[in-house]
Amino acid sequence: MRLLIILFTCLQISFSQEVNYTILISFDGFRWDYLNRGITPNLDKLKANGVSAESLVPVFPTKTFPNHYTMVTGLYPDNHGIILNEFRDIKTNEIYRIWDTNQVTNPKWYKGETIWEIAKKQNIISASYFWPGSELKDITRQPNYFEKYEHTRPYERRVEGVLNWLQLPIERRPKIITMYFDATDSKGHRYGPNSKEVNDAISKLDSIVGSLVEGLEKLNLLSKTNLIITADHGMTEVSKNRIEKIYNLVDKDVMLEWSEAFLFVWPKSDKVDEVYSLLKSKESHFTTFKRDEIFMKYNFGKNEFIPPIVLVADLGWILAAKEPTEKELERFLIGNHGFKNNEKDMHGIFVASGPSFKKNFQTKILRTIDIFSVLCKISNLNPPKNIDSDIKKIEHILIEN
Ligand code: AMP
Ligand code: ZN
Ligand code: ZN
Repeated sequence: MRLLIILFTCLQISFSQEVNYTILISFDGFRWDYLNRGITPNLDKLKANGVSAESLVPVFPTKTFPNHYTMVTGLYPDNHGIILNEFRDIKTNEIYRIWDTNQVTNPKWYKGETIWEIAKKQNIISASYFWPGSELKDITRQPNYFEKYEHTRPYERRVEGVLNWLQLPIERRPKIITMYFDATDSKGHRYGPNSKEVNDAISKLDSIVGSLVEGLEKLNLLSKTNLIITADHGMTEVSKNRIEKIYNLVDKDVMLEWSEAFLFVWPKSDKVDEVYSLLKSKESHFTTFKRDEIFMKYNFGKNEFIPPIVLVADLGWILAAKEPTEKELERFLIGNHGFKNNEKDMHGIFVASGPSFKKNFQTKILRTIDIFSVLCKISNLNPPKNIDSDIKKIEHILIEN
């Protein structure tokens, strides 16, 4: 019996040794065309050595948590449960908010199985240096190693942390690692996508790629590591002069939620058709959808927390649920996202290089939903059944085995 256990353990270790390392990196709000600004030498090198897509189409809504959680579950937000950065459980009135640590770590909101859980079940070690959904208060749903989100943690320290994990003894060393950096999103919101500040953020993130590659080279791991660089969405210019006052269009008893590029409309149950027709007749700079209509177009609408009517703004417009206060207007962001995912400004980047990827290979638009299938495939993991991710739509970027 003992001999059998030893043999089994050896087999497990040798099996996991064969799997390459994968580092999935997210640059928040790194719009697809930022790579064409001539300020990304390190990413350009990766492109030449690997795969690059014209752009990466996110899932709707083009917000941070829905898209990141899609990448690690292969599910649309409707199915993985994180439908927005902020939403309400209509049965309990509890609100999920990404800045509320209690909610962000509460497993009840998160459906589906993450790459970390799947890896754990299949004896592959994983780690996360920040990622939405990586800190759930349920050990079975956590990566083997993870860091608690700290917005201001210096980027070089994040790289160092990952390189340290990669120096652990082989039997404890992670094979799948996620990393997250906010700079392009934060600066894009504050100064707009065409600002000097965004260009500085792009350069900073590019130099982080440089440090990581250099560190991997020193550890002799570069040739065994797949690097996947993605963005959750893009960014576009918005303006205080392009706010659509939805609260002026409907009666007071219609509840409106989330003043964003989209807006949730909750009419009384017998008033849905009436409110829908009214909003349809007043449409300007937005589109009115019933749940099944928005589902057909954007795979968003079946989740129980989505209201009977959803409005989505035209690119560059914001929909207001209530009169903005002076303070809110003062803090108004000049860049934003959340718009329809077929708007090119909402697209992000996809660059990947390493032993599993073709070299110097350019491809057309890839889909965020399919990244999960690639993660599973290159790490020899069996994906769960009934996922939305489709390996067929992305496998052409992989070298044939
Ligand atoms: P948004 O641009 O509103 O879609 O969200 C971007 C923000 O999400 C960033 O500025 C971060 O503050 C926040 N964020 C990103 N990752 C995490 C995380 N793992 N935990 C908590 N907040 C996060
Ligand atoms: Zn984001
Ligand atoms: Zn953002």
